[in-house]
Amino acid sequence: MNTKQTSLESFLRKKKRLSEETEMSSTSKKRVTFNRQYHESYLNNGFVGTGDSHKPKLLCIVCGDQFSNEAIKPSKLLRHLNAKHPGVKDKSLEYFERKKREHEGQKKFMRATTSVKENALRASYLVANHIPKAKKPFTIVEELILPATKGICRELIGEAAVEKIAHVPLSANTVTRRIEEIADDIEV
Ligand SMILES: [Zn+2]
Repeated sequence: MNTKQTSLESFLRKKKRLSEETEMSSTSKKRVTFNRQYHESYLNNGFVGTGDSHKPKLLCIVCGDQFSNEAIKPSKLLRHLNAKHPGVKDKSLEYFERKKREHEGQKKFMRATTSVKENALRASYLVANHIPKAKKPFTIVEELILPATKGICRELIGEAAVEKIAHVPLSANTVTRRIEEIADDIEV
């Protein structure tokens, strides 16, 4: 039982790592001798710094394009602005500050949504992992586990917890897919 738990944990960790690696650009693995820094004045042209403060990246607040640390050069930024957004290049700093605030609000919202989704996904795998161990049909999740869990949560934690559970993908089809995925990964 304990070893199975460990393998599911490592499976989930590996899955997370793989998806993060795909998101990472290949440039981040390159060795660099020095890192370019973000300068406040870049906001005049519509750019904000993102990511690691030691090695920031730039984000165009107008279109959302990202620039790697190596690409942080005023000439390059101006070229982007002139080529892609000629309509806003003469806008005031207030305009870009407002855009920046809008972007930060969006980012906060996205981050909250992502973590809810990520946790719901993990929960889905954790539940699916129990089914073959208990030698039960996949449909037991929808028919018994889900309503029972909702009932317990409603009594002990409250309606907000029940709503969160509704986000956990647990249809019979999904559970079947999860079990196959876990089995494939652990056996190979
Ligand atoms: Zn842009």
